[in-house]
Amino acid sequence: MTRRKFVCGNWKMHKTIAEAVQLVRELRDKTAGASAQVAVAPPFTALSAVKQAVAGSAIQLFAQNCHFEKQGAFTGEVSPAMVKDAGCDGVILGHSERRQSFGETDELVAKKLRAALAEGLHPIVCVGETLQEREAGRTWEVVSRQVRGALGGLDAATLQRITLAYEPVWAIGTGRNATSAQAQEVHAQIRGLLRDLGGQPVANAIRIQYGGSVKPDNAAELLSQPDVDGALVGGASLKAGDFSAIVSAAK
Ligand code: PEP
Repeated sequence: MTRRKFVCGNWKMHKTIAEAVQLVRELRDKTAGASAQVAVAPPFTALSAVKQAVAGSAIQLFAQNCHFEKQGAFTGEVSPAMVKDAGCDGVILGHSERRQSFGETDELVAKKLRAALAEGLHPIVCVGETLQEREAGRTWEVVSRQVRGALGGLDAATLQRITLAYEPVWAIGTGRNATSAQAQEVHAQIRGLLRDLGGQPVANAIRIQYGGSVKPDNAAELLSQPDVDGALVGGASLKAGDFSAIVSAAK
């Protein structure tokens, strides 16, 4: 089964509107004709402007987070409908920075996932263990709990609309990427779990991105692994040359 590679840039809390538009204009040129699916996730404030700047290109627009309610008294939050209204194709959910700095639990990620799916958004659900958990031999316990917590109970057709991102927390923003063998090991375990949750066709179809210090010089090796179907890229997605080099490595 061939899964089209999917590379998404998570810009986190970087870029003014003008800077975001400039970056995505460069990316339009540099990623034109890429075989991989390409998406960028700017901050909320730049979504509409970036949507206009990607019009007519294959670059998709993702938000970095959303609330689970449609509307209401939730100061500072943005609903899935608002994300959709701003032009987004999808949304990143359960990023480790959301889990660690903003207290997001598996239960909350599951609620957000269902709300995003109900709005027709393409969710990228992030999972991954901390260094302490890895060193304690608890990697699979943690990752499987996160995957089950978010995806458990969804039917096969719904599961196929989701992308997962395996992002070991110790590799995010540290310059220390997982080795391709470490990534492949966990990705293969996740695919086995997806088979349990939704059957073989679901396991074959869902893309599992790797995230954690992906750079132009390690992307080809990581992306060559059989169960690594793309990348979720933080720091290197802020430079058009680096991000487009990673996109080119995703064949
Ligand atoms: C991320 O934040 O999803 C990420 C992978 O960051 P970085 O590439 O900077 O490690």
